[in-house]
Formats: sequence, C-alpha cells, structure tokens
Amino acid sequence: ILNEEFEKALDVCREQVEGGAQIVDVNMDEAMLDGKASMIQFLNLIASEPDISKVPLMIDSSKWEIIEAGLKCTQGKAVVNSISMKEGEDNFIKYANLCKDYGAAIIVMAFDEKGQADTKERKIEICTNAYNILVDEVGFNPEDIIFDPNIFAVATGIEEHNNYGVDFIEATREITKTLPFAKISGGVSNVSFSFRGNNPVREAIHSVFLYHAIKAGMTMGIVNASQLQVYDDIDIELKKAVSDVVLNSDDGAGERLVDIAPKYVGDGLVENKKDMSWRENNVEKRLEYALLKGITEFIDEDTEETYQKLGRPINVIEGPLMAGMSIVGDLFGDGKMFLPQVVKSARVMKKSVAYLEPYLLAEKQDSNSSSQGKILMATVKGDVHDIGKNIVGVVLQCNNYEVIDLGVMVATEEILRVAKEKDVDIIGLSGLITPSLDEMVGVAEMMKDKGFKIPLLIGGATTSIAHTAVKIAPKYDNGVVYVPDASKAVGVASDLLNDKKAVFLAGKLEEYEIVRKRISKKNLRLVSMDSARENKAKVNFDNIVKPKKLGVQVFDNYDLGEIKKFIDWTPFFQSWELAGKFPAILTDSVVGESATQLFDDAKKMLKIIIKDKTLVAKSIIGLFTASSHNEDIDITHNNEKITFNFLRQQIDKKGHTPNFCLSDFVGKDDYMGLFAVSIFGADEIAKKYEKDLDDYNAILVKALADRFAEGFAELMHHKIRTDIWGYDYKKYTDEDLVDEKYTGIRPAPGYPACPEHSEKIKIWDILEVEKNIGSKLTSGFAMMPASSVSGYYFANPDSKYFGVAKVNKEQLDDYAKRKDIDSGAAEKLLRQNFG
Ligand code: SAH
Repeated sequence: ILNEEFEKALDVCREQVEGGAQIVDVNMDEAMLDGKASMIQFLNLIASEPDISKVPLMIDSSKWEIIEAGLKCTQGKAVVNSISMKEGEDNFIKYANLCKDYGAAIIVMAFDEKGQADTKERKIEICTNAYNILVDEVGFNPEDIIFDPNIFAVATGIEEHNNYGVDFIEATREITKTLPFAKISGGVSNVSFSFRGNNPVREAIHSVFLYHAIKAGMTMGIVNASQLQVYDDIDIELKKAVSDVVLNSDDGAGERLVDIAPKYVGDGLVENKKDMSWRENNVEKRLEYALLKGITEFIDEDTEETYQKLGRPINVIEGPLMAGMSIVGDLFGDGKMFLPQVVKSARVMKKSVAYLEPYLLAEKQDSNSSSQGKILMATVKGDVHDIGKNIVGVVLQCNNYEVIDLGVMVATEEILRVAKEKDVDIIGLSGLITPSLDEMVGVAEMMKDKGFKIPLLIGGATTSIAHTAVKIAPKYDNGVVYVPDASKAVGVASDLLNDKKAVFLAGKLEEYEIVRKRISKKNLRLVSMDSARENKAKVNFDNIVKPKKLGVQVFDNYDLGEIKKFIDWTPFFQSWELAGKFPAILTDSVVGESATQLFDDAKKMLKIIIKDKTLVAKSIIGLFTASSHNEDIDITHNNEKITFNFLRQQIDKKGHTPNFCLSDFVGKDDYMGLFAVSIFGADEIAKKYEKDLDDYNAILVKALADRFAEGFAELMHHKIRTDIWGYDYKKYTDEDLVDEKYTGIRPAPGYPACPEHSEKIKIWDILEVEKNIGSKLTSGFAMMPASSVSGYYFANPDSKYFGVAKVNKEQLDDYAKRKDIDSGAAEKLLRQNFG
C-alpha cells in the first residue's frame, strides 16, 4: 500500500478468499500512510471485485475516523475491529451506537480503563459488563457482538504467562455459556509468538490451541487459513509437548517444548506411509482399523474370525464393531473426520453385520436389539431429493440408531402409519423445494390430530429455523427440531432420547420465540404496484438479436464426456458438507485430504459412467418470439399465445435500484427461451449399490448425476449463446462459466427471481417435456428424475438475477387474477416461498 500497489494488495485478498478465508480484515494504520484516504480507496477497489467482496470485510483501525470512513464505503454488513471500554464507558457507548447505525457487527476487545484482561476472571468480567451495556442500554443485536478476550503468548519463559492459553480457553467456555449469541474471536498467531522462526512448531501450537478453544466455544479466529497443521497429523511427541504448553500441564512444559522444538525446524513432520502392517494386529484391532479407514476388502474374513473368537454374533456387533463406530462418531463429532469418511465407515459396519445375519437368524436375534432408538426418515410428498436425507440416515446408523427410510415422495398418511406400526422414537422429514415446507406443516398438524407424542425433526435445503419456528413448531406440541446439517443429527437425536429431552425442547421453544420476534420486527417496507412498476428496470432494447433458429429442439443421449467439461465441482463438495472452493479445497489444510479422497472416488466412478453410458443425458430447448407487459411475458408457439406470470419486487428501494421483474428484460418484439435438462439412470444404479449395502457409492452416484444435470444446463446455455440463438460469441474461461459471467441469464422457477414453482407446468406444456424426453413433474412441481434443471433464457445484456422477496396483498390478488385462480390458491402457491 505504501508503494501504491493497490492491485497487488487486491491479489493478496483474492488469494486469502480462495484459500478459504471467510472474512477479510483491512487495516491501514501505518504511520506513513494517510489511513483514511487509503481505506476509502482500497475498499472501493474491493467493491468492484466480486471474488473478494463476496466475503464480509472487517474494518480494522485504532482510529474511529478511519473506521467510519471504511463503513461508509462498505456494501452489506461489515465487522468493526474493534471497540472497547479502554477509554471508559461513555466512549464505548458512543461508538457502539454509531456501529449500530451503520449496521455493522463489532469486535469488542476485553480491555477497560484498568487495562487489558489477562486472567480468566478479568476476561469474563469485562465481556459480561460490555455485553450488558450493549444489549440493555444500546440495544445492540447480541449476535452482532464478537468478543476478543485476548490471546497472549505462552512459553515465554515468564511464569505468569504460562496460563494464558488456559485463561483464554476457560473464559471462552464461560462466555459461551452465559452471554447468549455473542461470538468469540482472537488473533491466534499471538499464542506462539515465542517460537518465531520455527513455523512447524508454531503451526502445531495453533492447531492444538484452536482444537481446545473451538471445543470451548471459540467461533472465529484470525489466522492464515492456508498455514494450519491438521491436528491429527501432528507428530505425537510434538503434539504432547505442545498440548502440555497450551494447557499448562506443569511448570516444566515450556522448557520441554523449547528442548524439542529445534528438531522440527524445516519440516520434521513424519509422513503417514500407506502400508499393510495393520493386517498383523489382532482381529479386534483390524476391525477397528477397517472401520476407521473405510476398508471393506477383508471384512468378511475378519468378521468370521471375530465371530469364532467371541462365540456369538451379537458379541461381535456390540463389541468390536460398536467400539469402532463409536470412535468414528467421536472423531466426526470433534471435527476430525468428515462426512465422506463416515459414510465409508458405515459401509464397513453394514457389510460386517450382513455377514453375521445368518448367525443372528440361527439365534433368532435381531441386529438392532441394542439400538439407541428407532428413527423414521422420509422426503415428503411431491419432493424427490434425498442425498442429504440419506447422508443423515447413514450418520445416524453409524451411531447405532435404527433407521427406517421410507424414501422420497412419501405421503403424510404413510409416514404416520409406519411410525405407529413400527413404534418409532423420532420422525425426520426432508425437503429440497419450497412446496415441501407446506407438506411438513401438514405432517405436524396430522401428528397433533392423531395424538402423537414423539418429536419431529425438520431438515433439507429448503427448510430453515425461521420457517420451523414460525410455521411448523406452533402446530405440534411434542417437539419440533430444526436440524441444519447432517453433523448435527446425532447430537439432536441423543438429546431427544435421553432424560434431558424436556430441557432440550424447552430450550428450542425459547430459541424459536426469539426467531419469531426477530422476524416480526423485520418489517420490510413495501411500495404499491404502481410505484414498483414506475421504478421498473430501465432496459435497453436497441440491439435485440433474432435467434438463428426459433422453435423446439431435443438433444437425446448427449455425450457425457462433453458435459463433464462443464461441471462445476464446488457444489459437489458442499453436498458432502465439505466447505471450500474447487480446486483449492483439494489442498485445504482441514478438509483437503478428505476432499481429495472423495474426488478420486468421484473421478473413478465418472470414468465408468462415461465409458459404460450408464447415465443418460437428455435436454430440450425452445426459442420463441416474446413480448412483455407489466409482469407478464407472452410467447408465441405454433401460432398460440402462452403467458408466463412473474412477480415484481415491492421492497422500497428509495430510488437506489429498480424494482425488478423478469418481464423487464423482454421488450416488445423480442425473444425468450425455455429449457429442461435431465439425467436418467442414477436411481437405478443407486439401488444396486444400496442392495450391496454400499450407501457411499449410492450417494456418490446421485451427487454425480446432479453435477451432470447442472453441467448440462451450463453446456446448453453455452450452445444457446454461441449457436442456436447466437448473440454472444465471446470466449469465457471455465471459471467465468462457473461464475456465470456471460451475457444473459437462465433463471429457474423456484429460485428467488421467479420463486413460484407451478410455472414449470407451462414449460412442460410448451416443450412437451414429458413426451419428448421423459421427465415429469410431481404434485409439488418437483422434477423427476431428481437430477433435472429447467428454466428460461433471457439474452438481454441488462438481464440479471435478483430476489422477489415479499409481495403485498395487491400483487397477490393481481397474480391470482392473471393465473385465473382464486386468491387463496395463489396465496398457498406464494406462501410456500417463505421469506
Ligand atoms: N454452477 C452451479 C449452477 C447452479 S446454481 C452448479 O453446478 O450447481 C445457478 C443457477 O441457479 C442459475 O443458472 C439459475 O438457473 C439459478 N438461479 C440463481 N439465482 C437465481 C435467481 N435469483 N433467480 C432465478 N434463478 C436463479
């Protein structure tokens, strides 16, 4: 920055974001700099870099003037780093109020007029004091408060410093308990300051410190994301010495680490060699190893040997198998193992139990006799997606729950009938598309009518704590719990099936009440339809391009090898709950190993699919003449007029941006396109794997089919732009494609710009999708097969994605009239699009 090389500084930001940083901290406090001017200039540069500005900014300065300048040119919500009570309470309140006005979150340093907090007691005292002032006096959102209770260097040779790590960790534990919703952060590299120059040791200290601090409740930290040692990979001797220092085990800990530290300068860490020596252990150890590593190769012979040794099949299950799975469960719970590995472990467990099945039968024993509880799972009626649900099912099974999976599109009556018949302990519902939300409300209502007593779990991409709190929980009194992701499922199930259930559920009710209050406070100001229309997007229609080929075209059996080139891999890892952008994720310090293994498995399967053509790709597109009026677009096909009904944003934009509607992107004598793509065959392949007790590959093939569907949609869009419509011949890199940097959009019904799913019926009618390629719509307007995408093509360079958000009664009634349905029916269609 001193050399005015702002571009280079932007590159540093970009690298950090690509490396997994979730917030970028910007600090211009350099004596030789005009801090305020530099802050403004740099933040404005960041604002035009979508790759960087997609993450929140932390405006970091010790001068309020610089912070405020930064806040004025930050889009979205920023984090202020930092304010504290070091200049007294009055100043603290003043700056907190200003931060609140700017809508920023704040880092609050544990610092007051007496100085920086070093002991556990002082940290807790200052944070509690600050919290009470912020929440009670200033009216600050508690979830926007981030405490920094000060991380100080340990092993400095000064005895008073030895407990600094413990002080931070223990203060964190207490603050997490007593100051609800507040977050806890810290500058991690401080802790290892005494080992400057010895990066392997510093990284090990950071990992060990984070490992304990995160467990205690630490929610964020400042650290170089690409320089963290994986906790489990730290050399054993080093880990022990480091742990002793961080946890201040005894007075000699620091000295011991100083003694061995030189050994690790450079990179003394021992690589884990792949070898077969584990086969030489006793059979219990071998089973444990196979479970941990997901190796099925020897499972039959090892299971037989264990059975011979232990005499009864149930002894094998309840002994070594359960012991192994419990280690897997613990590692997963501690964030040391990730979903793909857990699902592989489950496969080993299932195969072993299957091998024992004849012995169990001979003894008339049930392999589930010792299960923790019975859980029924289903994707609700009208919905077809089940990758997430299947992952949750496997994770629960790993933890010794008996899972009864009813599959997809399961009617409420069926769910409740089986629940009664099998006397299950919990029902879990899953859904991907918005109409499923209403289905879930229906299930809750019927559970109440039928006098059910067991809890109901809610999960899946379309669900949220908001919808659960507002719409589902009030319908059923015996426990409704929102489960945000698979890693939370086991914790929730165990809380619901032990004697703390009542406390747990009471806590949930409180949480939902807070959520409901927050939502009712969030009063979006809406404008009338007249003013919204007046503020419609001003779009230039001077250069409308006539498509080279109008009408409908089918692409049958499309070359999968071609589609592969258009696959965006990042969402693939998300579906396994591995966070990070591809390809950086493969070398990520936390999930890299797991991601690489998963990607290798995926590539292997992909190769076979492409070679044997076991998946079949079909698509259909159509380009038509079109014209718009208000929120409608008419298209003509076979001399018939069909009208698509869209919705317009009604949020009060105060003239800053338009009140968008998709119809704004189509002019008078214009064109528009429709498309549907599907990948067939994944369910059949998955069934075969399931039959072979191989959930891992069953889930994998579905996740790959989803990738092919999205990739195919991208490929077809490319074809439309460069050939069939022919309006954009620019060359784009793979990355540009993933980021959809090209001209024109392909909004999909059910997504924010066109959130109402039933419009898909028109796409299906006009393109005759079912007849031409075989894909269907369910009662909830989900597409079958599940790996399908459909939507519209808009070519105008001004067209962009947006979200409709809330609409008022005026638009609702108008929408009903346009669709020729009554307002009640329209409300139902729209209400499903909660929020
Ligand atoms: N590369 C991603 C693409 C899918 S998500 C993948 O492989 O999974 C992006 C798509 O979602 C867009 O092409 C569009 O079809 C849809 N979409 C995103 N935002 C939207 C919005 N606001 N309104 C309508 N559709 C949207």
